[in-house]
Amino acid sequence: MDAEQFRRAGYQAIDRICDYHSTLRNRPVTSQVEPGYLRKALPPSAPTEGEDIQVIADDYQKYIMPGLTHWQHPSFYAYFPTSSTFEGILAELYASSTSNPGFNWSASPACTELEAVVMDWTAQLLGLDRSFYNISEVGGGIIQTSASDSALVATVAARSRYIREHPHVAIENLVLYISTQTHSLGMKAGLVLGLKVRTLQVTAQDDFALRGDTLKAALEEDLSAGLHPFILIGTVGTTSSGAVDRLDEIGEIAKNYPFLWLHVDAAWAGVAYACPEYREAYHLPAINNYVDSFCTNFHKWGLVHFDGSCLWVRHRRHLIDALDITPEFLRSKQGDAGTFLFLWSCCFNVDGVCIGTAIDYRNWHLGLGRRFRSLKFWFALRARGVNGFQKYITDCIKLNNRFAQRIYESDLFAVVTKPSLSMTVFRIAPKSLSNLETLELNALNRAFYARLAARNDIAFTQTDLNGVFCVRMVVGAEKTVESDIDYALALIKEEAMILVGNWAR
Ligand code: PLP
Repeated sequence: MDAEQFRRAGYQAIDRICDYHSTLRNRPVTSQVEPGYLRKALPPSAPTEGEDIQVIADDYQKYIMPGLTHWQHPSFYAYFPTSSTFEGILAELYASSTSNPGFNWSASPACTELEAVVMDWTAQLLGLDRSFYNISEVGGGIIQTSASDSALVATVAARSRYIREHPHVAIENLVLYISTQTHSLGMKAGLVLGLKVRTLQVTAQDDFALRGDTLKAALEEDLSAGLHPFILIGTVGTTSSGAVDRLDEIGEIAKNYPFLWLHVDAAWAGVAYACPEYREAYHLPAINNYVDSFCTNFHKWGLVHFDGSCLWVRHRRHLIDALDITPEFLRSKQGDAGTFLFLWSCCFNVDGVCIGTAIDYRNWHLGLGRRFRSLKFWFALRARGVNGFQKYITDCIKLNNRFAQRIYESDLFAVVTKPSLSMTVFRIAPKSLSNLETLELNALNRAFYARLAARNDIAFTQTDLNGVFCVRMVVGAEKTVESDIDYALALIKEEAMILVGNWAR
C-alpha cells in the first residue's frame, strides 16, 4: 500500500468510523453471533497473494462488525465502561503511524517524556500527593496495560523490598492479602508469583468494605504462625458492588506494620477523584497518607482508550530494584547516568528547578517494549480540560442517581448495596412476594437476569454478594442521556412484571 492508497483508505475509514458512532443508538448492544461464527466465515489460511485494501475494509464491516459488543452504546450498562473518544482515536492513529516502543528514554525521548508529564497531570487531576509525581524524582507514575499488570508489578516490587529487608525469609512463607471482594487480579498475582494468598472476609453490614480490625486480626494470627504478610491489595470501587475499603482504618493499622506494602486498586472508581467532592468519602486522604502504590484505569471511566492503566508508586526505586535487568544491548548514556549518578543527571529548567532524570520505563513494568500510550492521554486531557473531564464524571453519577432513586421508590425492586458513584446493584424484591425465602428470591432473580441477558437492546451484568444474586448497572457511555435511563427502567419493569406474574401463579 502506498501513501496515496493509504490516504484514500484512511479518509474512508474516518467516514465509516463517524457513521458508526452516529448510528450507535440504532444498533443492537450485544452481538447475536454463535461461537465459531468467524472461523466458518473466514478462509483457513492467510492469502498467498496480497489482497485489495478495499476488500479487507469491506470484510471488516461484513464479518467483524456483527460479532462486536457495542460498549459505547447508550444502553450499555454491563461490567464497567471502557472509553472511546474521537480525540483518542486520532491520538492512537498518530501513535501507530510512528510505532515507537519507548522502553528506554533514548529509544524515543518524546514517548518517555510525555508519559512522565501526563502521569503528573493525571496525578494532579486526581488530587494525589506530590510524592507520587514523577517530578518528585522519588515516586512516580507509569502507564501499564491493565490493573492486573499494575497489581502484579506492585506485588513484585513489594516482594523484592520485603526480601531485601528480610533476607532469611523463605518465599513460601510470604502472604499476599486480599478481600473476598478484590478483583481476580489479587488471586492472579498470587498464582503468577507462587505466593500464599489470604482472603479477608467482609460483610454486608459494612457494605462489603474491608475493615481495619479484620486486617489487624489476620496480621496478628499470621505473624504468630511464623508467616510473613508483605502486601495488602485494597480496593476503591469493587467490581461487584463499588465498595470502598476502609483505607483510613487500614492505613492506621499498617502504620504499626511498616513492612506491609499497601496497594490500592481503584481500576474503575479512581478517576472520580477528579471531582473534589468525592475525595473524602472515597478515602483519597488515606491514599495520600498511607499507601505505597495506587492504580486507576483511565481506559475504563477516564475518557482514554484501552489500554491505559495508571500506576503510581511512592518510591520508584522499589520498582527499579525489582525489575531492572540491563544487558549491554540495553545500556544507554542517559540510563547509566540515571543509575550511577542520580543527582548529577538531573536536568534543570531556566528557574533552576529540576525537571527530571531520564526515566527508562522498561524498569517499571514487566515487558520491555511499550506502546506510545501517553499520546492519547495528552489528546484527551487537553481536548476536554479538567472541567470537561469533571462534567463527564458527574453526568454519569447524576444519571445513575436517577436510576437508583427510581429503584428505591419501586415496589418491585430493591437496591442491594448503597449506590456507588455511577453504579447501582439491584434485584427484584417484589412487595407482593415478600414471603419468598432467600433461595427462591435468588432463583427469581436469576430468571430475571436471564431475561435481561437474552435481550440485545440493553446490557447489564450480574453478581453474587455473599449469597445474594443481583444485577449490576453501571453508567459510563458518553452517549447515555436521561431518556436512556428511563428506557432502562421501563424495560426492567416490563421484564420483572412478566416474571413476577408467572411466579405468583
Ligand atoms: N479492578 C477492578 C475493581 C475492576 O473492576 C477490574 C475490571 O473490571 C479490574 C481490576 C481488572 O482490570 P484490568 O482488566 O485492567 O486488569
